[in-house]
Amino acid sequence: MQSQDFDVLIIGSGLAGLSAALHLAPTHRVAVLTKRGLADGASGWAQGGIAAVLAEGDTFDAHVQDTLVAGAGLCDLAATRAVVEGAPQAIRWLQTLGVPFSEEEAGRLHLTREGGHGARRIVHATDATGAAVQRTLLETVRATPNVTLLEQHTLVDLITARKLGLPGPQRCLGLYAFDETTDTVHTFRAPHTVLATGGAGKVYLYTSNPDTATGDGIAAAWRAGCRVQNMEFIQFHPTCLYHPQAKSFLISEAVRGEGGRLLRPDGTRFMPEHDERAELAPRDVVARAIDYEMKTHGLDCVHLDISHQSPEFLQAHFPTILARCAELGIDITREPIPVVPAAHYTCGGVLTDLAGRTDLAGLYAIGETACTGLHGANRLASNSLVECMVFARAAADAILAVPGGGAAVPDLPAWDDSRVTDADERVVISHNWDELRRFMWDYVGIVRTDKRLERAAHRIALLQAEIGEFYANFHVCRDLLELRNLVQVAELIVRSAQQRRESRGLHYSRDWPAMAAPAAPTLLVPPVR
Ligand SMILES: Cc1cc2nc3c(=O)[nH]c(=O)nc-3n(C[C@H](O)[C@H](O)[C@H](O)COP(=O)(O)OP(=O)(O)OC[C@H]3O[C@@H](n4cnc5c(N)ncnc54)[C@H](O)[C@@H]3O)c2cc1C
Repeated sequence: MQSQDFDVLIIGSGLAGLSAALHLAPTHRVAVLTKRGLADGASGWAQGGIAAVLAEGDTFDAHVQDTLVAGAGLCDLAATRAVVEGAPQAIRWLQTLGVPFSEEEAGRLHLTREGGHGARRIVHATDATGAAVQRTLLETVRATPNVTLLEQHTLVDLITARKLGLPGPQRCLGLYAFDETTDTVHTFRAPHTVLATGGAGKVYLYTSNPDTATGDGIAAAWRAGCRVQNMEFIQFHPTCLYHPQAKSFLISEAVRGEGGRLLRPDGTRFMPEHDERAELAPRDVVARAIDYEMKTHGLDCVHLDISHQSPEFLQAHFPTILARCAELGIDITREPIPVVPAAHYTCGGVLTDLAGRTDLAGLYAIGETACTGLHGANRLASNSLVECMVFARAAADAILAVPGGGAAVPDLPAWDDSRVTDADERVVISHNWDELRRFMWDYVGIVRTDKRLERAAHRIALLQAEIGEFYANFHVCRDLLELRNLVQVAELIVRSAQQRRESRGLHYSRDWPAMAAPAAPTLLVPPVR
């Protein structure tokens, strides 16, 4: 079968991918490929909001400074300035599309304040900002000519000039995508490809991320020869609901702010033993303390108790948490909530410049997949949605500026599956998924040691060999593609963590507890370039 040809291929239908598609659509034929439904991804799950300097008295310099402090010496100043200064325009763009942001009064946005921000600068749509933004973007993109939306299409691999043995400069020519509706792999061809595949939280046993967050874009870019940066910096949210039927439900940090106490299963309080600020310590300190308690006492979870507050107070302040817990049989007005920390945000990713360009000509990375330099060693709350939008526009502008739409792309070979058979042992995939996520949680989670990282590296090598063999011999399916990518990302996280011989930001090593000078990013260079 021939390739399907477009001007731009965008992988991912989150905020980053859809924003880029809308900027490009007036002049370019765009395909948005997404591996599940269009709304599946982290963007729709964002609760808090979007950071932008809009309040009187607030300044770009102040937002930049707050971001640099959170990033613990590793933020790139130019990327930080670009995002901060582009944020107000990004908000106005969303408003013109019709996103119903919460207002103080008609025409004046309500701004909240979040940890780490020195001013009120969080634009939001009640407590479901991501859902409101995602809904509006999807409605707009569906009504936009020139954008072809392809659901159930999973990126398998990028097609590069090097892989085809073509002479001349390295560049991305298109990709293979697995179409789940027909069980076939299609070839897509374009002079420009944008990776907007989100983060990699699913590499850990507990995560706040949706099932789509398997690091596919990072792994594919790495295989294609792109450098990857700062993968050791994984942000953990301290309190995710622990319940077999509740996947990825966050218990807001505001519960601790309103007096919630963290308890061991025997009812004893432990935070005062870890930090004098107790439950009000910063989120990484709290996450580390919970991790310590769970690992030391062999606990499945700890408990967060807010039952001293009245039912009326809890209904007024935490209606969603109250309702969700009640559905699962937990009455938070009378009993504590079981919680675990959960992988929340991937700070590192595919290294890009200020226009989202990667090492490979014709390949861009935006959103959580990218490492633009904004987050450094720790992400400041509500800085990620805005990064998606600012870099989507920058990448689109760079693509729009290419004369003639880009260099001609040669014919691409069809996917060859003549030598593979149907997998008879699908249990291998599910078993390896579980094993990987558990040892990454145990050995490469919130607190790391050299020994644990070594153990993880050893297991990853075994899994890579097994999965590589499986991939070479059997027809692809989404689970297998995701597992292959997760193992690749796990390797990148472990290698980055092993290189960082200090504790900084989100990376904490018991063997290297001090912060070293000078601060430097962790840059991994792929074997094939
Ligand atoms: C619970 C939660 C709350 C959050 N709250 C906030 C907040 O308040 N403020 C804030 O700034 N940030 C928040 N974040 C972070 C923020 O939501 C994400 O960083 C952001 O949405 C990432 O957007 P994205 O477009 O890069 O990726 P996503 O929105 O995750 O989209 C990725 C897309 O790529 C697709 N995809 C992935 N792999 C493939 C593949 N192989 N082939 C085809 N398609 C693929 C997915 O299906 C999906 O469509 C939160 C995150 C979570 C999980």
